Amino acid sequence: MSRPSPIHCDIDLDAQGKQFGRLAVPQSTNSSGWAKYYIPIVSVANGDGPTALLFGGNHGDEFEGPVTLLNLARRLQPQDIRGRVIIVPMLNRPAVLAGTRLSPLDGRNMNRAFPGSPDDSITGQIAHFVSSTLLPTADLVVDIHSGGSSTHFLSSVNMHEVEDREQMQKMLEAGKAWGAPYVFIYKDVAGSGLLPSLAEEMGKVTLGTELGSKAQFGVATLEIAARGLDRVLHWADVLRDKPAAGDTAAPQVVGATKEDDYIMAPVSGLFEPLCELGDTVAKGAPVGRIHSLEEADRTPHPVLALTDGIIMARRSVPLTAQGEMVMALVRPYRLDV
Ligand code: CA
Repeated sequence: MSRPSPIHCDIDLDAQGKQFGRLAVPQSTNSSGWAKYYIPIVSVANGDGPTALLFGGNHGDEFEGPVTLLNLARRLQPQDIRGRVIIVPMLNRPAVLAGTRLSPLDGRNMNRAFPGSPDDSITGQIAHFVSSTLLPTADLVVDIHSGGSSTHFLSSVNMHEVEDREQMQKMLEAGKAWGAPYVFIYKDVAGSGLLPSLAEEMGKVTLGTELGSKAQFGVATLEIAARGLDRVLHWADVLRDKPAAGDTAAPQVVGATKEDDYIMAPVSGLFEPLCELGDTVAKGAPVGRIHSLEEADRTPHPVLALTDGIIMARRSVPLTAQGEMVMALVRPYRLDV
């Protein structure tokens, strides 16, 4: 058995009522030999019922989660729910403070650090606390992401295709209940150790999101986040009152299930998109081109679609290095049962 987490939670997560607390991660720094790094955690509990576990700020440059969950944490009262809601609005708080995807304290990506270990650097220690203490208690796990600094997204609730068909059906149902424009089935093409992947493996109904990007941060995406989360909490039998239906159309269920759906820059340079989010493209079609930053007379390098699909995501930063994702394509998705 692995050692217990060195992280101390200063509230009793099994207690009833509403509590604002902190996770204290041991630190020893140049400015203080003995110190703690605090991560806020909120628990709202009212009798028997499911446990919903909600995360924001897994990536520090994606602020939709922190804003949505800080609002929810202040608003939600025990009488509004049955069961329990545990909220960690800024999971990678060092990264949120820096506004960067990765933690400035250890250079790590929280969403590649799972399951983590008690002997790890701070990012892995937080991941380990989540894996060992929080995830086992959860029925529903929500991890709010957006495209952050590098990617624009059509707003979606997302998940992997999991093997357990019953779990997959439930996740699709929960995803549709959110009411975002898309439910997006994705594949890990950039590493393992994701929080949602571990939660899915543990059999939890798990939802991620990709709600716009840093540049799309505003009323429209924040409403999709806040209203959708309420709908999912009601779907999960946690939130008692049915939230207002809103005016959203039925979500489209789409998937990027092939490696080639994720188009990586063939060369480095200045990426010029030739298509926009939501456009339908055919395999072989030019979706962008990359200009040389060295030779003004060189013909831009074409970036071609490798599959047929709809553009779900595109790079939001023109300067691009070889191998960085410039587009992701999706197609209508149907679960084979
Ligand atoms: Ca993210």
